[in-house]
Amino acid sequence: MNKLLPTATAGSLPKPSWLAQPETLWSPWKLQGEELVEGKQDALRVVLTDQQQAGIDIVSDGEQTRQHFVTTFIEHLDGVDFQKRETVRIRDRYDASVPTVVGAVSRQKPVFVEDARFLRGLTDQPIKWALPGPMTMIDTLYDAHYKSREKLAWEFARILNDEARELEAAGVDIVQFDEPAFNVFFDEVNDWGIAALERAAEGLRCETAVHICYGYGIKANTDWKKTLGAEWRQYEEVFPKLQKSSIGMVSLECQHSRVPMDLIELLRGKKVMVGAIDVATEVIETPEEVADILRQALRFVDADKLYPCTNCGMAPLPRRVAQGKLSALSAGAEIVRRELSA
Ligand SMILES: [Zn+2]
Repeated sequence: MNKLLPTATAGSLPKPSWLAQPETLWSPWKLQGEELVEGKQDALRVVLTDQQQAGIDIVSDGEQTRQHFVTTFIEHLDGVDFQKRETVRIRDRYDASVPTVVGAVSRQKPVFVEDARFLRGLTDQPIKWALPGPMTMIDTLYDAHYKSREKLAWEFARILNDEARELEAAGVDIVQFDEPAFNVFFDEVNDWGIAALERAAEGLRCETAVHICYGYGIKANTDWKKTLGAEWRQYEEVFPKLQKSSIGMVSLECQHSRVPMDLIELLRGKKVMVGAIDVATEVIETPEEVADILRQALRFVDADKLYPCTNCGMAPLPRRVAQGKLSALSAGAEIVRRELSA
């Protein structure tokens, strides 16, 4: 992009109430069959228009065609039995009933490629498309087949790479892998997590990104954050190795977060999507609050590598709030853009 400080969102945006129950994760669809297919496409048009009206530069599908950022991708794979459920601890934080890996995992056909092609047909703006990362995928499953987190992650990385290459061919400009699990399992991240992520992105000529956050603004996450102390230094464990990796961009959380801003220095050379919008509150940031975060980040990121962004996805927020936050992000970025060009 030629524009300085191009804005983007981390991932999900609220769905219209006629498509799915608002302000809910794993919200069931309200339509079926052909109506659901059409409804999802209409929702894609709506979130694209919302982003354009707010002045967002790099647009996304807002995850309108998926129920959940991890589950929906896995639902399309063979080898995972969604009827056979076990309770496991997700991200070392909360227990959930999850599907079981019962055999070799494989992808019979593309999962999101048609959706990406549809979005590409609607706009000439750069498109960012999010996929779950291999480590975050294995963390939401019970594995009764491979019996090795690492082995299963490598299998998912291979599958994700097939999907990512097809997304690229469909016109996606940035493929992003969501790896909130990178903020928890530091030993595994450094042993094989980043290597598996590179495998998922292997051979891509488009931009590649990884999103590492402190999660949606749901109770399990806000409770967890309360236990993390005055300074959140989780990024310090993974950034050094990530800096040396082949992944081009890193999306991280900064607004209202206790992450010391100087940890971004550990990524020097990478493009950084700086979270300047808090997704855990319905209070809409002022443009000046957004600008303040961006100014702080500019001490550690070169201006041509800074992408103003949201902390995480906004799916659980009311639409009015999400729309206000998108506009604040744009307005805040514009303040700093003018300062830089002055
Ligand atoms: Zn996130």
